[in-house]
Amino acid sequence: MIYDYLVVGSGLFGATFAYEATRRGKTCLVVEQRGHVGGNIYCECRDGINIHRYGAHIFHTSMRPVWDYICGFAEMNHFINSPVANYKGELYNLPFNMNTFNKMWGVVTPREAQEMIERQRAEISGEPRNLEEQAISLVGRDIYEKLVKGYTEKQWGRPCTELPAFIIRRLPVRFTYDNNYFSDPYQGIPKGGYNGIIEKMLEKCDVELNTDFNADREALRRRAKKVVYTGPLDAYFDGCCGPLQYRSLRFETRRMDTPNYQGVAVMNYTDRETPYTRVIEHKHFEFGDQPVTWVTWEYPEEWKPGAEPYYPINDEKNQRTFAAYQELARKEKGVLFGGRLAEYKYYDMDKTIASALALARKEFG
Ligand SMILES: Cc1cc2nc3c(=O)[nH]c(=O)nc-3n(C[C@H](O)[C@H](O)[C@H](O)COP(=O)(O)OP(=O)(O)OC[C@H]3O[C@@H](n4cnc5c(N)ncnc54)[C@H](O)[C@@H]3O)c2cc1C
Repeated sequence: MIYDYLVVGSGLFGATFAYEATRRGKTCLVVEQRGHVGGNIYCECRDGINIHRYGAHIFHTSMRPVWDYICGFAEMNHFINSPVANYKGELYNLPFNMNTFNKMWGVVTPREAQEMIERQRAEISGEPRNLEEQAISLVGRDIYEKLVKGYTEKQWGRPCTELPAFIIRRLPVRFTYDNNYFSDPYQGIPKGGYNGIIEKMLEKCDVELNTDFNADREALRRRAKKVVYTGPLDAYFDGCCGPLQYRSLRFETRRMDTPNYQGVAVMNYTDRETPYTRVIEHKHFEFGDQPVTWVTWEYPEEWKPGAEPYYPINDEKNQRTFAAYQELARKEKGVLFGGRLAEYKYYDMDKTIASALALARKEFG
């Protein structure tokens, strides 16, 4: 049979598009190179705990239609992300707020905190020349030294003095006692994890796992009238304009024989010496009361071709390479490109859904 659409990649983008196509009576074949569907929002259930296998995923949005849309596939719980920063055993609330400032300086009122930050920011005059100067000019030296420097250096694998200022455009500072990391009005984790959402979205599709589209492109293309490609753009064109670079991550996940390991879902390690950046205790996303727990240590890694591409490096060089691929993509007949890999863009889940819905609207009217 010839399908209407061949969807390459079963992540949130591909699944949303496939759902929109099948609910309009179109036929879809979804091919996925991994052994499971869901892309990076995939969860692995162990001991009744949903482990976010490719990094912690917290759904948050300010787009009401996207919130309503996701709630059509899952019931969202009342999880609020309130991560804790661990600097050499000193704990601080994130995002930077009155609780953080009280712990850091003993200040109690917003005015005292504002004065302290203003005094410290004044150290930088003129245009910041690198990320260190940019961060100090935004939040002052104390917060920079304890909560920004080490974490950022681990993430990027370079000293802050050698990183460009534009990486940190703003560092949200809140002068209220509010530990809610996100300021979006809608937030939560789907009860039972993310897999149920993807399974519902793909209910009416045929799915073939362990299938790399780029390894068998011509034969797969013949199986559908049109292709929706959500894989890396450079891989589609066999890297002919050079590689698009990423930052990667390595996850180490362990079962711990204790009901509560760290008391919070996300703990950031902000010193330079601890090699990991975050420790995730998955059960807290769903208020689990199991007698054991599953914990993931997240290590930033240099990306090499073949490694999992996590965060695009949208610097000038990579954007130029991406523009060259986009030019080729525009000329490609019968192929629609979308999602975080094909668009070489960091997309939160809500933006991914919005973008897939926009593509579906364009395609189906
Ligand atoms: C570490 C991390 C943490 C994140 N945390 C959050 C968060 O807390 N909140 C939030 O809103 N967003 C978060 N995100 C973003 C979220 O993961 C994305 O919005 C979402 O996964 C994008 O979906 P996608 O379908 O575009 O890409 P993906 O999920 O990457 O799916 C693409 C799929 O295509 C497959 N594929 C690729 N190439 C081929 C090929 N050649 N043949 C067949 N299949 C192929 C891949 O295997 C993959 O399954 C996070 C991202 C990362 C990296």
